[in-house]
Amino acid sequence: MTEQWILGKEFRFEAAHKLPCHDGKRARLHGHSWRGVVYVSAIALNKSGSKTGMAIDYSDIKKYIKPLVDDYLYHY
Ligand SMILES: [Zn+2]
Repeated sequence: MTEQWILGKEFRFEAAHKLPCHDGKRARLHGHSWRGVVYVSAIALNKSGSKTGMAIDYSDIKKYIKPLVDDYLYHY
């Protein structure tokens, strides 16, 4: 049997959208607070170094996700 670890890291951002076909106020540009979750799957844990026993360091997930959120989602 193969073991598997799945970690989730939540992030939040503010962004706007509009629903042009909506028959009410939502046809106008308006903002929301959004919540995203990134899942990482691993079939092995680190076996040496400062991350021994970890599938991935949460700070590394943040390091990869933050530029994407900042450049493509936050206030877009
Ligand atoms: Zn909306």
